[in-house]
Amino acid sequence: MSSAAAGAVVVVGSANLDLVVDVPRHPGAGETILGGDLRRSPGGKGANQAVAAARAGGASTTFLGSLGNDDGAEILLASLERAGVRTDLVQRSAAATGTALISVTADGENTIIVAPGANGDLRIDAAARARLAEADVVLAQLEIPLETVLAAAAARRPGAVLALNAAPSRDLPAPVWDALDLLVVNEHEALDLTGAPDQDAALAALLARVPAVVITLGSAGCLVAERGRPSVEVPSPRVPAVDTTGAGDTFCGVLAAALAAGEPLVAAARRAAAAGALAVTRPGAQEAVPTAAETAELVR
Ligand code: ADP
Repeated sequence: MSSAAAGAVVVVGSANLDLVVDVPRHPGAGETILGGDLRRSPGGKGANQAVAAARAGGASTTFLGSLGNDDGAEILLASLERAGVRTDLVQRSAAATGTALISVTADGENTIIVAPGANGDLRIDAAARARLAEADVVLAQLEIPLETVLAAAAARRPGAVLALNAAPSRDLPAPVWDALDLLVVNEHEALDLTGAPDQDAALAALLARVPAVVITLGSAGCLVAERGRPSVEVPSPRVPAVDTTGAGDTFCGVLAAALAAGEPLVAAARRAAAAGALAVTRPGAQEAVPTAAETAELVR
């Protein structure tokens, strides 16, 4: 565990067991097809981002999530713990652990069905509130109830950063917008959230509601915008892409850890972009998250 001086991140979010099957093509309605071997791997935006924050080094990282009492929960906990995430506040629900059913064709096109299960039961209890009150950065996504995101926001101490990765995109009520210090979205989510016709208009609309916004742009890196300052384009290192799963989650987790350690937003985004680039060079989500040393080598 890292020292308190390097800051504390609390990730409030989902954990899903990914059940992945390679298929020759996606089945049509009413059709059964044979696929390849079943792979089970730890996923879910919250758990992926917690693993990325912990592996980034520096900050201590707590995962606040809800799991069932099944094999999937054990796979997820083991992966979080291997990465050094604090899991002492993980909640257990009578529902099944969140599960994603994923089919992938050889050209990389996938279909995903998520059964949220236990993720829907995540609540901010007294122990969670106490941990949130110690956090420098609270990082949430949208695979858990919005009330839980709001309760986490209310529990943070003054001066702590509430960062939301607004994925998967859905309409946000005013109290959520008002609570945010930082929004991280990809290009599609930026357009979905605002209904704007292009990226510039989306960025302007988002900055009208949130003081700082990062839009990730895949291989092009990201755009960092803070109210009252010119926006900054942060390029991503060029890498051979193998599997883009988890790039956005790696980006968010590393960004949160760097901010908690005291880095300014643009420097934190540079580190996050390098980590996201490394994640696409490897298959999987949590398995693909780079270490702090690997990322540091790519950051100039
Ligand atoms: P999401 O996975 O949420 O759609 P992005 O695709 O924008 O998010 O990826 C997040 C970050 O990962 C990018 O900002 C970039 O730094 C890095 N990244 C993603 N794809 C690539 C790629 N093909 N080459 C280099 N870096 C990438």
